[in-house]
Amino acid sequence: MATKSKKKSLAKKKLVRAKSKAAKSGKRAKAAKQAHAGGTDPKRVAAILAKLDEAYGNATCELKHENAFQLLISTILSAQCTDVRVNQVAETLYKKYPDPKAFAYATPGELEQDIRPTGFFRNKTKSVIGASKAVVEQFGGVVPRTMEEILTLPGVARKTGNVVLGSGYGIAVGVVVDTHVIRLSNRLDLTRNHEPIKIEQDLMKIVPPGKWIQFSHQLIWHGRRVCVARKPRCVDCNIEKLCYAKDKTYWSSPASAPRR
Ligand code: SF4
Repeated sequence: MATKSKKKSLAKKKLVRAKSKAAKSGKRAKAAKQAHAGGTDPKRVAAILAKLDEAYGNATCELKHENAFQLLISTILSAQCTDVRVNQVAETLYKKYPDPKAFAYATPGELEQDIRPTGFFRNKTKSVIGASKAVVEQFGGVVPRTMEEILTLPGVARKTGNVVLGSGYGIAVGVVVDTHVIRLSNRLDLTRNHEPIKIEQDLMKIVPPGKWIQFSHQLIWHGRRVCVARKPRCVDCNIEKLCYAKDKTYWSSPASAPRR
């Protein structure tokens, strides 16, 4: 009898322990959820947007272009390459190839050499010729104005689509998610995702549509000038008080560092 009651009391203790463990992990999950909600709290997001406006009111696309087609080509060339280098190449490129037809029916080997300084020139040549051919043969020589259509062009994904539609036509259908936007939106706790498509969806939920185009430029400018990949220059950052990134290099005062 004594053993039976001992077993019962042990089982009871186990149950209590399991319940308290579950409660603790539930609390932790709730706290994590609340912390994330804090990151995307509308007031905090509005404050970040205001700070970006303050610092980069005139932010624009840094790829030089005279029309949506040139922007399409320059954006394809900008993969794994700086805008400065693309602009240097573009200066002579658009004189030699003045319109979509010139690119569509270019000699691949020659075009490869013309764009060589931008890197990955063989693949980029395929994309440039493929996209130009599609523009000429399927869209009458004009870059399409919808995301659905632009995504049918070879070598074109959502990032390029958003750049061309946003900066080439002023059409806001999404947010450009490049390497800077991925890094900054995570540092600023505007998303917990790392895949561009999911990050874009997260940002589109919290940034007003009227600001999508400008917001992309501003984050990219901030990422290039201040919130750089290695050792962000937090001392020069006007969003510092709103930022609790783990890799911050500077706090305005030790007391302002959040306890995490
Ligand atoms: S405080 Fe630092 S990490 Fe945060 S956004 Fe500014 S530069 Fe980036």
